Amino acid sequence: MDKIAIDAVLNRIEESTGQDANPRIAAIVHRMVRDLFYMIEDLDIQPEEFWAGLNYLAEAGRAGELGLIAPGLGFDHFLDLRMDEAEARAGITGGTPRTIEGPLYVAGAPVAQGEARLDDGTDDGEILVMEGQVFDSDGKPLPDARVEVWHANSMGNYSYFDPTQSAFNLRRTIVTELLKQLDRHGTRPAHIHFFISAPGHRKLTTQINIDGDPYLWDDFAFATCEGLVPPVTRVDDPASMQALGVDRPFSLIRFNFTLHAETANAPRAEVARQRAAVTA
Ligand code: FE
Repeated sequence: MDKIAIDAVLNRIEESTGQDANPRIAAIVHRMVRDLFYMIEDLDIQPEEFWAGLNYLAEAGRAGELGLIAPGLGFDHFLDLRMDEAEARAGITGGTPRTIEGPLYVAGAPVAQGEARLDDGTDDGEILVMEGQVFDSDGKPLPDARVEVWHANSMGNYSYFDPTQSAFNLRRTIVTELLKQLDRHGTRPAHIHFFISAPGHRKLTTQINIDGDPYLWDDFAFATCEGLVPPVTRVDDPASMQALGVDRPFSLIRFNFTLHAETANAPRAEVARQRAAVTA
């Protein structure tokens, strides 16, 4: 179809919007429909392809899979880059880099003071000790900062989501299917998730990567960043093992976090989105 004919249809659709429409939602929907109409035209998308795509999204939504597809298509990373740019415009630079939250955070984890052992002792994987401090942008240690951390077991599975095996298997299948069509893998390098927050400071959403992972710079979710790959040292002296209360050598990461003071001229760093939660 020619552009005049396409725009005529689009204009009719946009003009059907009521007077009390939410202007922001209307602008987003109009733009999305317009871009998709032109995508259909430019790529000559056939009806079978359109309905297959709609079904794919419906299935992915039913399976709770969209939160995994978004990072795999780079959306989470793109939103991070836009937030970085907005902060740079507001004069906020340096500090610990942010990187994507992912869909597997669960609110309500037990609170510990100063230090915590994260695992329940049933996993035979390598012991990893991580230590560090949270600083403000002047280099002063921040008291009462909250470090929320989440990590997969040595099988790569996250608790809470792990017991629901059927749903998890289904989501994994759908991602693999899309990525297969794109000739891509669905693997993330080993990483640990963090939310770091402290009163009066911008919340930091980030991850560190475990150096040496073969997928370190080939992350399915594009989340690996310079500055977030701390060195890992191997500790095998008996005194250190005894001090930690473990019976075998372990890996040690030292990594500090730096938070920026809150400011009115940058977008909110606390991003509202639907998250799993367990309440006591
Ligand atoms: Fe993860």
